[in-house]
Amino acid sequence: MKLFVGTRSVGKTREIRELLTGLPFELSFPADRMLQPLPEEADLERSASYVENAVAKARYFSTRGGLATVADDSGIEVEALGGAPGPRSARWGTAAGGGAVDGDVDAANNKLLLEQLAGVPEERRGARYRCVVAFLATPSSAPEIVEATCEGFILTEPRGSGGFGYDPLFYSPELHMSFGEAPPSAKHRVSHRGRAFRALIEVLLRRMSSDH
Ligand code: IMP
Repeated sequence: MKLFVGTRSVGKTREIRELLTGLPFELSFPADRMLQPLPEEADLERSASYVENAVAKARYFSTRGGLATVADDSGIEVEALGGAPGPRSARWGTAAGGGAVDGDVDAANNKLLLEQLAGVPEERRGARYRCVVAFLATPSSAPEIVEATCEGFILTEPRGSGGFGYDPLFYSPELHMSFGEAPPSAKHRVSHRGRAFRALIEVLLRRMSSDH
């Protein structure tokens, strides 16, 4: 099955490639196809709902790419911040974020997270990552949605330089290390994205076998 993955995030691209490798999917990404962003692309994640954002991204990229498409909307929800930044996680720490590259945005997000949690004790630093993935067979199809979370807490200083985004500050009790310290295969085993894409793979394999 040809599958277009609607993301321009370097971190997500790497992880989704790893998660879908060895399976009967021929993957392509916007960068492989030199797909230039249209002005409306900047506005795709405007909703406070992960599902709406994931579907909006899948619809946009499926229209642009002309293939069955998946898109992930994800974020981190911090208990002491009432669940913020949630769906706004991507550019939370930057004023507008226009033109900023991934690494700068991540640094600004992590700085703001540490500032907002200054003095908050460990028992109130609980957090969870959430990932919602939308699949569209065609731009006008009804979306298939899968969702998963991953529980942890926010450290008081970064640990490790692996992963991307908030990973150096996200401690996973399941792994006994931060996601910044975790090898990719360990992160995938417990992460929101690993769990959501494994659920998606089941949905897609079922669809493929019922098509035959
Ligand atoms: P969006 O789905 O494009 O809105 O972006 C999600 C944002 O949430 C990313 O830019 C990161 O800041 C954060 N995020 C989502 N998943 C992860 C992850 O696995 N590790 C670190 N940060 C993540």
